[in-house]
Amino acid sequence: MTVSARSASQPIIALHAPEIGERELERVRDCLARGWISSAGAVTDEFECAVARYVGVRHAVAVSSGTAALHTALLVAGVGPDDEVVVPSLTFIASVNAIAYCGARPVFVDVSPDTWTLDPDKTVTFLRQECDVRNGRLVNRATGRRVAAVMAVHVLGHPVDLDPILEAARARGVITIEDAAESLGAAYRDRKVGGLADLACLSFNGSKVVTTGGGGMVLTDSDGWAARARHLTTQARSDDREYVHDEVGYNYRLPAINAAIGIAQMERLPEILERKRRVAERYREGLAGLPLVAPAPEAAWARSTFWLYTVRLKDLRLPALRDRLLDSMRQEGIEARPLWRPIHLAPMYAAAQRYHLDHTEDIYRTAVSLPSSPGLVREDQRLVISVLERSLAEGTAGKDTSWV
Ligand SMILES: *Cc1c(COP(=O)(O)O)cnc(C)c1O
Repeated sequence: MTVSARSASQPIIALHAPEIGERELERVRDCLARGWISSAGAVTDEFECAVARYVGVRHAVAVSSGTAALHTALLVAGVGPDDEVVVPSLTFIASVNAIAYCGARPVFVDVSPDTWTLDPDKTVTFLRQECDVRNGRLVNRATGRRVAAVMAVHVLGHPVDLDPILEAARARGVITIEDAAESLGAAYRDRKVGGLADLACLSFNGSKVVTTGGGGMVLTDSDGWAARARHLTTQARSDDREYVHDEVGYNYRLPAINAAIGIAQMERLPEILERKRRVAERYREGLAGLPLVAPAPEAAWARSTFWLYTVRLKDLRLPALRDRLLDSMRQEGIEARPLWRPIHLAPMYAAAQRYHLDHTEDIYRTAVSLPSSPGLVREDQRLVISVLERSLAEGTAGKDTSWV
């Protein structure tokens, strides 16, 4: 295979380009020079410490992907066959697949139109009014199954309004897991996400704010859960001399070479977040004059990382504006993308319970994620905004938009 120059179909302005430089190279070089290539040893431990310190949790367990982190967190939380887990449908498929890996089932609850994350009122109402406590277990009246956990996904860098959910879940013995894969560095009421619930998961895949190429992490304050996560993700080996295993484990440990990149990335994180905020601010200002465009949400109690700066088009009476915009962006070499197709529409999860999904599909149909790299330069961002402006002007030419 040959390495070719950039072809015409490749985007010129990326959706989210990683910040990789001399720091990362130095760490990886050092790691290789010492022969620390596997997951054993101090490098992975050091990465765990850096993330645990940053988020403010007692324990961090590094794994090979965010999906593996979610699977591990669910297992540690005791989620098993035929249990149910409350999860939004508006999320990346991995949040829900991890539930299926445990033999459990999703219960899809709507997202709030203000934050696009799990609706706290609907979640609390579901736990309070649709379920009964029987023999110390919370049972979903509609299905007769145990509701074991809530997976609160901090979508696109914006935190979930978690306090009411945590309170209702704790009162009923239900464990709350944060899927913080998209939101490292975000804050909820001045507390960092990843340290708010019983367990939390991060992803370090290539497009996330902090990347290790591939990787993930389980965060918790519980000594017991952290030990169990470590055990499960290293093949559940119970003896360090003999190959004795006491349950079905997984080969999920993060290799040192990836962790080395992560250590350097964590040093950059505050600066990356600041630059991403500046990008978000410029979008907010640049799009303010466009009545058909709603800026990316940020609640008064939230500090978003704007992982992907995602706007909503007010196109309910003008369908197809979104697709026109996506086409215009592609033609200009700008990488923009729609949100994930809601998971309740995927064939594997079509039979799952849906709890008042009033906003999920509307948000999906009208949202577009714009280039959000921390290194996005002013001129490129101006081009993105002007392409957006032009595409909407063409899409609404001759049409009545006085209702906006
Ligand atoms: C990226 C992502 C994951 C999965 O992470 P991987 O590291 O790609 O396995 C899980 N949940 C959400 C919400 C994500 O965005």
